[in-house]
Amino acid sequence: MTEEIDRRTTLAGLGAIGLTAAACGSAQVPPGGGRKLGYAIVGLGSYATRQIMPRFKDCRFSRLTALVSGTPSKLEQYGEEYGIPGRNRYSYANFDSIRSNPDVDIVYIILPNSMHAEYTVRAARAGKHVMCEKPMAVSSAECQQMIAACRQANRKLMIGYRSRFQPHNIEAIRLARSRAVGKPGLIESEHGFTIGDPTQWRLKRALSGGGSLMDIGIYSVQALRYMAGEEPVSVSSTEFTDRRDVRFRDCEDRIAFNFLFPSGLIGQGFSSYNSNHNHLRLSGDKGWIDLDPATSYGGQKMRVRIGSDEREVDPPAGPGANQFAAQLDHLSQCVLTNREPIVNGEEGLRDLRVMEAIYRSMKEGRTIRL
Ligand code: NAD
Repeated sequence: MTEEIDRRTTLAGLGAIGLTAAACGSAQVPPGGGRKLGYAIVGLGSYATRQIMPRFKDCRFSRLTALVSGTPSKLEQYGEEYGIPGRNRYSYANFDSIRSNPDVDIVYIILPNSMHAEYTVRAARAGKHVMCEKPMAVSSAECQQMIAACRQANRKLMIGYRSRFQPHNIEAIRLARSRAVGKPGLIESEHGFTIGDPTQWRLKRALSGGGSLMDIGIYSVQALRYMAGEEPVSVSSTEFTDRRDVRFRDCEDRIAFNFLFPSGLIGQGFSSYNSNHNHLRLSGDKGWIDLDPATSYGGQKMRVRIGSDEREVDPPAGPGANQFAAQLDHLSQCVLTNREPIVNGEEGLRDLRVMEAIYRSMKEGRTIRL
């Protein structure tokens, strides 16, 4: 049994490393003859500058070639740091002229949520492929407009669901699909953090589209869906928000939600702006898979129990083990080989539909059938 997990782990590690190649074509002959596709980053905030931009150095098929910001000093600072020439530095006002820039193949939108739809549509109309951060938009109607704009322009659209490129999550999905822990009965996922500054955009509905669910609870929604491998048929939820708390005048704090999947599998999710969680667990009739932290920027830990054998599973690191670089390269490879990203616009739309049902259940106090 122990050996069995070992063997599986090794195979899965290899599988994880080969994921982007498997999904988008062979890595033996570099697609595009080794040309790295150029990314323009739109929005030079925390996630863009601290997590995404530093990872281009680990990419095999992607490079950073342009920056878009409303703040000239940021364009200057990051332009210098990353060697981006002045002609490839854009403001929001002249962003559409990116159309004529051959250095840019893909536009990566890392703006507040309510701006995702507008910039995705503008990027597609400028003839560029699009990577858009989660949540894809603030409504399913906007998601549909984004999908339509990219389809009309014949451009790819991918959502920044980095956990789908993270080795422990890839291995957890593989174990779940292979029924390594038997028939699944329950999946649980909690995500949350204690939010600070009450003036930030995340707490302004007009910019965020909602509270903790839109920002961090979406990881629980995604994880329940990717571990289940099926779509919920009904959703119910319970919310608690202290409206006297200055942070929560406009947005919800905590929501617990339940999904029923067609197979009878139950999903239990939690989202919070007032407590810390980063957890995913699938329980089957032969054991369980538990990730904590599950979807953080790094340091994932996974324990698996099958029968009476319990151990930590750590997929080997290697090229492709960096979730950020793997995510960036996945879209580049999909563009180069004309494949559909594994987390495309339709996948972002599915999450928005489920989140809208969670909000509806919360408001109407009843179970919503999907
Ligand atoms: P941030 O506040 O650090 O950055 C937002 C950027 O947008 C800033 O550069 C800001 O100047 C710019 N901006 C433009 N117009 C603005 C406006 N009207 N109000 C506020 N800012 C404006 O936020 P962030 O944490 O970088 O988040 C940006 C996006 O990335 C969000 O959609 C968020 O959900 C997503 N994100 C994803 C992950 C992930 O792990 N995938 C992590 C963090 C954030």
